[in-house]
Amino acid sequence: MIKRKGILLVLSGPSGAGKGTVCHEVRKRMDNMKYSISATTRKPRVIEREGREYFFLSKEDFESKIAEGKFLEYALVYDNYYGTPRDYVDEILNQGFDCILEIDPQGAMQIKEKMEDAVFVFIAPPSMEELKKRLTFRGTEKPEEIAKRLGNAEKEFKNMPNYDYVIINDKIEEAVCEVEAIIIAEKLKTSRNHEIMNLLNKGE
Ligand code: 5GP
Repeated sequence: MIKRKGILLVLSGPSGAGKGTVCHEVRKRMDNMKYSISATTRKPRVIEREGREYFFLSKEDFESKIAEGKFLEYALVYDNYYGTPRDYVDEILNQGFDCILEIDPQGAMQIKEKMEDAVFVFIAPPSMEELKKRLTFRGTEKPEEIAKRLGNAEKEFKNMPNYDYVIINDKIEEAVCEVEAIIIAEKLKTSRNHEIMNLLNKGE
């Protein structure tokens, strides 16, 4: 039986586009998909638990880990550090599981430079108006913070051509099906199936 290395799926996009919700639903539906838990220096929210949503670190500990090269990528996102632990992701992929990362666009572009067979999906809102509505509705940011995020979103849209796929997150159910379709198609790519193709070519 051929054991394949898992696929690294990077979901990114502007704050408020719904990438967290899409990621959450994909994880529930896809058995072979593991979620990489990030580290952050932001304070835990009431419902969050250490090692479940994030590994919560002090700024000093986070910076030591940066110096030790422990992160596959990291970024300063709205005044807090966030980073993807390198060893954890390697372990998931080497075990043959797919791995989903839900990270900001700065982090996504760092991974693009390092991992050529990762798959990059931009989660976009249906419109700027809808993005503004979603950011306002979730009520976690003040108006000036919302304005900053909308300004960043405009810059992030310009970078969309650097992704492999764009999903317009209008209806969550459709967006999740589209992520599933991407994973299925990626697995079938000839470039990911050299081993079986070689065996067949040898008549085995
Ligand atoms: P939140 O604080 O709302 O959980 O996340 C804030 C932002 O940080 C989101 O855009 C989320 O995608 C991003 N983020 C979460 N984990 C990581 C990570 O490991 N690396 C990077 N670059 N961004 C992350």
